[in-house]
Amino acid sequence: MIQLIRGFKDILPGEVELWQKIEQEARTLFESFGFREIRIPIMEKTELFKRSIGEDTDIVEKEMYTFADRGGDMVTLRPEATASIVRAYIQHKLYAPDPAQRLYMIGPMFRRERPQKGRYRQFYQIDAEVLGVKSPLADAQLIYLLVLLLERLNVAGAEARINSLGCHACRPDFRAALQKLLASVGDRLCEDCTRRKDRNPLRVLDCKVPACREALSDAPSVVDYLCDDCRRDFDELQAALTSLGVAYIVDKRLVRGLDYYTRATFEIQTGELGAQSAVAGGGRYDKLVKELGGPDLPATGFAIGFDRLAEIVGLQAGDYQPRPDVFLAALGERSRSLAFEWCCRLGREGIRVEMELGDKSLKSLMKSADRLGAAHVLMIGDKEREEKVALLRNMGTKEQIAVPFDGVIATVKRLLTK
Ligand code: AMP
Repeated sequence: MIQLIRGFKDILPGEVELWQKIEQEARTLFESFGFREIRIPIMEKTELFKRSIGEDTDIVEKEMYTFADRGGDMVTLRPEATASIVRAYIQHKLYAPDPAQRLYMIGPMFRRERPQKGRYRQFYQIDAEVLGVKSPLADAQLIYLLVLLLERLNVAGAEARINSLGCHACRPDFRAALQKLLASVGDRLCEDCTRRKDRNPLRVLDCKVPACREALSDAPSVVDYLCDDCRRDFDELQAALTSLGVAYIVDKRLVRGLDYYTRATFEIQTGELGAQSAVAGGGRYDKLVKELGGPDLPATGFAIGFDRLAEIVGLQAGDYQPRPDVFLAALGERSRSLAFEWCCRLGREGIRVEMELGDKSLKSLMKSADRLGAAHVLMIGDKEREEKVALLRNMGTKEQIAVPFDGVIATVKRLLTK
């Protein structure tokens, strides 16, 4: 038997209702805050991700699904959404009428990571981006949205962590200080960090290898090097979060794994996820629009890990098991074809309806109705057809009423929706 690819998964009925509920809450919330949906392709030119995410990142170095298509063009299954959204913003000049654009997308991403709980090779993200806005209030609003969404989904124990990565003016000083430290602990770093310490030293701060973490326990922190502008923005972000009642922690080691981040970065973590504790992450990427060939416009955004969110929401998939409003139990072929017609017409009226299309005994039909948790059963056999009256049984009260064939759809609809 052919099984699915390692690290990929099916989201089956029973679980999918939970996903739909999360998606619906996210859409409602984003739309209240003026975000509009954008749908971007699943595949892009490899170059787009190399240039935006950065060559020295785990994603680009090791994780992308990249291949030459049949024409020999190098393409990549998207590992994240920001690069594509920025590409679309530039390509379609979405900034022209007004640079400020709030966009969101929901969909699958692909990274060839080592699969484990909370980490998949195809996973889903809910992504929100505010393009063309420099104010740190946009970052505050994004963090607020994340907190609100988790609250609405009954996620307990979520914690916002924020940091600032500085900008092109202040980061070089920090980088120099960090590099000095890295030079002194050089031989204690893992292979990846040894390679990265010159080209991308910030990434070393993010390394999860215990020896690297220990070697860097005295690492300088970016917030101590911020220039006046970055400092002011970071203070404004914190003041806005405080005024919104959002609890947060300044986490000086939060650097995140993508190269394009500048200034505010943030993550939402929860103890419920074990090792993969981040349910969402994001931050400001003020230079990316320009780097990808667009105008010099700032931007900020986040991505929520949908799979991880689905694992921790305080809701059970069982809460969403759909139950039929009515189950049609028809005995004999002629009753069945009549019931089939009713079944289709009731469905068209928005009544949740089920019936068995095969030849079954009344006992087995009633068993099916019970198993499905049907609220009512509409019964038709030879006798009912002769008298032109069907029987509608309320499965809760066991009460039965006669429903004349004439106007049956309207009557059932009225009885079930009152
Ligand atoms: P990133 O795009 O790496 O900033 O990730 C944003 C969020 O996506 C993370 O906080 C995770 O919740 C989720 N995420 C990232 N990678 C994976 C993965 N391989 N499997 C499941 N969720 C992931």
